[in-house]
Amino acid sequence: MIIFGGMGDLAMRKLLPALYMAYLHGNLPTPTRIISTGRQDFDREAYLAHVEANSRSFIASNNFNEKTWDGFVQLLEYVRLDVQQAPDFGALARAANPGAQRVFYLSTAPALFTTICDKLAEAGLVDPKARVVLEKPLGQDLDSAIEINEAVGKHFAESQIYRIDHYLGKETVQNLMVLRFGNSILEPLWRAPNISSVQITVAEEVGVGSRAGFYDGTGAMRDMVQNHLLQLLCIVAMEPPTSLSPDAVRDEKLKVIRSLRRFGLADIARDTVRGQYTHGVSGHQEVAGYHEEKNVPPDSKTETFVALRAHIDTWRWSKVPFYLRTGKRMQRRSSKIVVEFANPPFPLFPDMPGGVANRLVIELQPEEAIKLQIMAKQPGSGMQMQQVALNLDLQSAFQQRRAEAYERLLIDVVRGRLTHFMRRDELEAAWEWADPIIEGWSTLGEKPHPYPAGSWGPSEAFALLARDGFAWFE
Ligand code: NAP
Repeated sequence: MIIFGGMGDLAMRKLLPALYMAYLHGNLPTPTRIISTGRQDFDREAYLAHVEANSRSFIASNNFNEKTWDGFVQLLEYVRLDVQQAPDFGALARAANPGAQRVFYLSTAPALFTTICDKLAEAGLVDPKARVVLEKPLGQDLDSAIEINEAVGKHFAESQIYRIDHYLGKETVQNLMVLRFGNSILEPLWRAPNISSVQITVAEEVGVGSRAGFYDGTGAMRDMVQNHLLQLLCIVAMEPPTSLSPDAVRDEKLKVIRSLRRFGLADIARDTVRGQYTHGVSGHQEVAGYHEEKNVPPDSKTETFVALRAHIDTWRWSKVPFYLRTGKRMQRRSSKIVVEFANPPFPLFPDMPGGVANRLVIELQPEEAIKLQIMAKQPGSGMQMQQVALNLDLQSAFQQRRAEAYERLLIDVVRGRLTHFMRRDELEAAWEWADPIIEGWSTLGEKPHPYPAGSWGPSEAFALLARDGFAWFE
């Protein structure tokens, strides 16, 4: 495995710890070599000291084992390489074993992807067995996404390209597919009018932190909605695939994205809400507003929050609103999918509490869990009702360890399993849907609505659902 950006934040915090875990559980082939590249003039010893100082602490202490770590470190190497310098790729080619199965992990800014792929090919490092993993963001819009896809596609066939979206590596997201397609009780209900609405929330407690340079030119729509939230929506909304082959699954996801109703200017004004956090309290601490963050221009109109109402124009989902919401500096870190079922058509029980009787809640963060809320009779005389949760307690049903998303996806790459990675046409279709919304915001010239850090976003996001008789489920 050859990691570009091997000294970067993602490599240190996520990739190396995930590879360590894969090694710990015997999921790396023998022999494996992990070659990190970067511009710093380090020898192997200095590189290993950097890993020790910056990566090791991201392995949970209950998984850390000194002997295993020593064994894992034996797999690590470092090659100094500036991706702009062709001779540096010669050094990489000399370090690589001829004929080995190679995985190139591009953990750099996407602006470098074209150069990296061209130079890898010139150095003779790309063969039909090679695989390439692409980190997000894959473009800023449809045109730039096509540019990246063309550049990578010049040297790698689509079946060699792994576009990573770590939400697809989450156990509960994959479990949702099993829940839907491995049981016959849910699927007949999984449609309009039995389902009245779907909510997908990805809320972050953190602010923009040190990433303002990148984030201010990107915003929540490009950073989160176009990729992570749409991928989650696809898993909820897709038709049953004919098999679990990568193309069968991805064909169905693509159909969902292509069936998303396009937004005109009036739809954008009515059905989308942009927000930007202001000074507030998060985790019992006063925190700065977006405009006060380092490297954010004082007049920035970049959104740190988006809520919108989407529609999928198919028989299955006719008139079912899909509410998507994501934001930084929200009240707490929480990602969940909430499927709300229509209430019984006739109010037989006089004491039936108001609101939604049945919900399927799929919690993705901070903990993964699946709960089905149903109405039950309270013990005692009379017919008092109360909502109770049928908990799918996967933790106690399965004693096995639950791997982190990056670990699972890296193992998929090593084993050549593409199902949980995005195909080129999916990615481009997602941009085709998102681009007009982003352009529409600019045409309308609206400023994002302010919301205090530590809240659930601007009040307009609540009104978006209230108008339809719904409310965000926290
Ligand atoms: P980062 O910390 O800035 O690391 C990027 C790396 O790129 C640096 O270590 C740098 O290595 C290397 N690089 C830059 N120019 C280079 C050149 N000319 N030649 C060789 N190497 C060069 O960024 P990151 O946070 O790890 O993110 C990497 C990618 O993953 C980005 O596309 C990001 O959007 C994406 N991503 C990151 C996260 C995250 O949590 N960090 C999450 C999702 C996606 P040297 O300075 O050592 O040369």
